[in-house]
Amino acid sequence: MKCIFCKSSSRGSISEEHIIPESLGNTEHILPPGWVCDGCNNYIAREVEAPFLNSWYGRNSRFEMRVSNKRGKIPPATGLYPRSRSKVDVYLADDGHLAICATPGENELHFVRSIQSHTHGTLFIPAATEPPQSYETSRFIAKIAMEALAERCINMPGWNKEIVEKRELDELRNYVRRGKPGLVWPIHKRRIYAANRLFTSPGTPPYEVLHEWDILAIPSSDNSKMAEFYVVIAIFGVEYVINLGGPDLDEYKKWLKAHSNQSYLYANQNSALI
Ligand SMILES: [Zn+2]
Repeated sequence: MKCIFCKSSSRGSISEEHIIPESLGNTEHILPPGWVCDGCNNYIAREVEAPFLNSWYGRNSRFEMRVSNKRGKIPPATGLYPRSRSKVDVYLADDGHLAICATPGENELHFVRSIQSHTHGTLFIPAATEPPQSYETSRFIAKIAMEALAERCINMPGWNKEIVEKRELDELRNYVRRGKPGLVWPIHKRRIYAANRLFTSPGTPPYEVLHEWDILAIPSSDNSKMAEFYVVIAIFGVEYVINLGGPDLDEYKKWLKAHSNQSYLYANQNSALI
């Protein structure tokens, strides 16, 4: 077996790879050892996942959704205490109260004095609406897309080799594994439902959807080229669409227009979702 990112033999690798990080609440979608070698597993956790999870959006969205990390802790949100112009970390205490302290690197004494010298104050905690179109977001979504494709093929004999040898995937896999500073791989991004929206289905209590995905194949319009494959991912209600075969979204944009802007994740349902 070979690693889908570096193409080296992954014999002896022991790490499972979470397609969506555990810190975003994923306990189900996991690639068995070998699909991603131990070296790439470590690199991706450090260089691809951590920059997104520790970004302002990553922290505040996890805080809002109350999703705890591997150690069972909900990460602090980043806020602002304008009176002392201090960036603050906002923690959710066990009793449901908020606890705040100056973010490391801020002038803590100045912040504490300001708090102590007033009986009232205002604290801003910006809502996590959508992450920016950035290098960190693109690489994070690219990693999920490659692994979502692999997950589809786990039980298909010969498909590890197929994915590893597919040259059309090289540009994206190298973007994840090696990076390309300055290149923001285009992603179609929009919110399709509120992060805390409750879904219902017959026979089950209402539930939240933390993440979901599917693969959309769009046949070539002139039949001379191969179909294009897009991975459609939703995390906390934000939809991300990425092309597995190159940084071009034109065919997807045409598909979207032809389908009245409906999300592919809900295209076959009589849903009110866009
Ligand atoms: Zn590898």
